[in-house]
Amino acid sequence: NCSRMWKLSGGDNRVHLGFCSPPKVCIVGAGPAGFYTAQHLIKVLTFYLLFVGENEKLLGFPVSLFPPPYHRQDVEVDIYERLPVPFGLVRFGVAPDHPEVKNVINTFTQTAQHSRCSFYGNVNVGTDVSVKELQQAYHAVVLSYGAEGNRRMGVPGEDLAGVHAAKDFVGWYNGLPDNRKLHPDLSCETAVILGQGNVALDVARILLSPMDMLKKTDITQPALDLLAESRIRRVLIVGRRGPMQIACTIKEVREMVNLPDTRPEMVAADFKGIAEAVKEVPRPRKRLTELLLKTALDVPTEKEQEKRSKASRVWGFRFFRSPVEVLPAPDLSRAAAIRLAVNRLEGSGEGASAVPTGEVEDVPCGLVISSIGYKSLPIDPLLPFDSRKAIVPNTMGRVQKTAGVYCSGWLKTGPTGVIGTTMNNSFDTARALLEDMDSGALDVSSAKPGSQGVTPLLEKRGVKPVEFSDWEKIDNEEIKRGVAMGKPREKLLSVDEMLHVART
Ligand code: FAD
Ligand code: NAP
Repeated sequence: NCSRMWKLSGGDNRVHLGFCSPPKVCIVGAGPAGFYTAQHLIKVLTFYLLFVGENEKLLGFPVSLFPPPYHRQDVEVDIYERLPVPFGLVRFGVAPDHPEVKNVINTFTQTAQHSRCSFYGNVNVGTDVSVKELQQAYHAVVLSYGAEGNRRMGVPGEDLAGVHAAKDFVGWYNGLPDNRKLHPDLSCETAVILGQGNVALDVARILLSPMDMLKKTDITQPALDLLAESRIRRVLIVGRRGPMQIACTIKEVREMVNLPDTRPEMVAADFKGIAEAVKEVPRPRKRLTELLLKTALDVPTEKEQEKRSKASRVWGFRFFRSPVEVLPAPDLSRAAAIRLAVNRLEGSGEGASAVPTGEVEDVPCGLVISSIGYKSLPIDPLLPFDSRKAIVPNTMGRVQKTAGVYCSGWLKTGPTGVIGTTMNNSFDTARALLEDMDSGALDVSSAKPGSQGVTPLLEKRGVKPVEFSDWEKIDNEEIKRGVAMGKPREKLLSVDEMLHVART
């Protein structure tokens, strides 16, 4: 199999010549982490080939003078994805009214269409093929399968009807097949969201946005239909700490403030001492806190007052409150209220902690959404997993005690960070992998079969992968259905339907 001549640069900067097949890397998960890792592995090469050409020189100098990664070979990358459709949370997480964020899909598509990149959708790693089998077929395996679980509040009543994890609620309105049947009951007046991160604000915005705004987005039609009938008029976004510890960002708060037909409802006492404390904090936090202060305490302008007096819906932050119990209706059939512990802060700034005062408060509500964070899950018992941090333990993306296995994205860092953060940590992982190839820490000297070693296993198990061109058929169908409804796309909602379109 070793049919091609290639150079291998040692850590000593010497260039070795040898005959071998290209290094083969597989990536598990086609979200931003998977695509950015693939992009870096491929891009480095493009740069290398472009400048090095046949004369073995880079910018006029012998290539051996340059540090890695310019010495890399023609790495081939295969991406395995659980679903028949790519892009992870860009498709199933990012709010439908934030279409500009989804432009990263264009870059991911370029990567997927690169001659040295292949997409294998509809392959669940851990179930359809094991990580060990991937290790046998590839020189390196990069785990980028994100965070598909959620942190639980751990309070009585959490499993009552009417209580949902934000992960599931978001999956429902974004068409994630796993959450297709959620059908949240929106017949109550008050919804309480626990957690004050950007996911909480996405959910609040979707619950309160006018239909005219939502119907132009790629939100699924069943979600739109249910939201059109919603009787929710009040959304409270509850945090265990104070206004200076809120986890969301200013853009998202501003969107709440500007949401048509709504008015804010804050508790002035929550902001005691904040006007003084805000002077001391760094700029982004300062600007965010000033916006909260203004919204909560300032006398509104005439125009704003007019908006507020006409508003039919209300939203508000509640601070210093932790969930204690979801209280059931008298017939025990569903949630009727949430009991919150009243906290005080110990310490100050980002690191301040919430300490219960012993007091509790009951807030009547028919919908409770727990938005206290996503959580990665182990997919293979043979791989190390840190259950406390819910990540794969790693050093700069190198999975500990497991040579040849790497990780990137939320699985590497935990479930925080925007797409840009995920991009940087994925580039870091790709860089570590290339360094290991270069130093010899990752053995790429013997030929590996790559997908040719995996597809027979999948076939034997009745798993038919979906190629990127199959996804493009699904994409076209969704766009076509969307045009008919005045939306950018109407997503296919079940794996069966996706596979049907992919295969016709
Ligand atoms: P993911 O995006 O979750 O990708 C993981 C992929 O792995 C998925 O495609 C999944 O199907 C696949 N997978 C899982 N298990 C397996 C398996 N066993 N085998 C094969 N494949 C598997 N960031 C922004 O910059 N702007 C935003 O507006 C924004 N909105 C967000 C909204 C929500 C609700 C959430 C939760 C996050 C948002 N983010 C946003 C953050 C952003 O989505 C993340 O930074 C990013 O998606 C993390 O990338 P990832 O690849 O690690 O995980
Ligand atoms: P997050 O930003 O980490 O927020 C989690 C929230 O849950 C915090 O308010 C946290 O409070 C609270 N919390 C955690 N554990 C709790 C507990 N046991 N009890 C009560 N409250 C608890 O997470 P996220 O909102 O899921 O967002 C994940 C990442 O995606 C973030 O980086 C976010 O910025 C990004 N994202 C970005 C966008 C966007 O750019 N528009 C949209 C969505 C998501 P403490 O601070 O007290 O821990």
